[in-house]
Amino acid sequence: MKTLKDLFLDELAERYDSEQRIVKALPKLIKAATCPQLQAALQNHLVETQGQVATLKEVFTSIGVKAKGKKCKSMTGLLAAGEAAASDFKDSPAINAAIISARQKAEHYEIAAYGCLHEWADLLGYGEAADLLEEILLAEKEADEKLTILARTGDNEMAVISD
Ligand code: FE
Ligand code: FE
Ligand code: ZN
Repeated sequence: MKTLKDLFLDELAERYDSEQRIVKALPKLIKAATCPQLQAALQNHLVETQGQVATLKEVFTSIGVKAKGKKCKSMTGLLAAGEAAASDFKDSPAINAAIISARQKAEHYEIAAYGCLHEWADLLGYGEAADLLEEILLAEKEADEKLTILARTGDNEMAVISD
């Protein structure tokens, strides 16, 4: 019978694989963005995401499990959709709005996933893992909030007035 620990390890493996995919995906979006502040925010989250790969390794170590990745169907789908939107809206005034939307969908998914992982780590008595996962959760929430601010301080209007 599968247990909460199995569920935790499956989800952890999916996040570990996903963060590595996000590290590969973000440079394409940074290139596609035309708003310098959005590019800077994405660049900042790229560095944070590289740190998250390392933090997840620490999570595995803290519970005495070898780090391993598992392909996450949802995140690979979200990343593919983001890449498609960036190419569909190339040269459009809505390019930055399209990128923000794609990124926010991915951040919201991460917020849900890390929220669960954090709660499960607590329940399973993995205190150090819970702290590390909460650190990632907070960074994902901050990244999402920064994107909302960028959308509201120009990137969405830019898409509207040029219509
Ligand atoms: Fe992340
Ligand atoms: Fe993220
Ligand atoms: Zn902007």
